[in-house]
Amino acid sequence: MHEAAVAHAILRRALQTVYPPSSATDDLVRCASRIDENEGALEKEPDINVIRILIDVGEFRNIDPESLEFAFTSLRKEFASTRNAKLEIRPVKALAICTIHEHEYRPTADQYFSCTSCGGGIKKLILGEELNIVSIEIENKPTAKAGRSTIAQR
Ligand SMILES: [Zn+2]
Repeated sequence: MHEAAVAHAILRRALQTVYPPSSATDDLVRCASRIDENEGALEKEPDINVIRILIDVGEFRNIDPESLEFAFTSLRKEFASTRNAKLEIRPVKALAICTIHEHEYRPTADQYFSCTSCGGGIKKLILGEELNIVSIEIENKPTAKAGRSTIAQR
């Protein structure tokens, strides 16, 4: 299931973003500390909790949102910092430019992905192939600087 690989990549990327690069290795090891399955307790309490990850997924990316959410929910427990994180998926509709007159149009399977004005093929996809982390909402704790913030990507 390739959604599992995608979910794992999103979680790792979020952790790399949340923790400073200088100490990334140590922190990744630390926040990767697994939940003890027998006792249901964490080896170490994380100082940053990831609350929400917003991603853009293009409709031509071949990702099933339900499978991705399912995989994310199963895998988030692997990292202490993400165990309660929510994944918000924002679908992005495809937008293309046609080969004949360079019309901008929305390609669909019903129309065999051809231009809705002239029947031309796809010259270029402007939108529809993205897989981007848009923002990561975090909660610092339990230090004095506790509070929520959002890290925007790009
Ligand atoms: Zn056209």
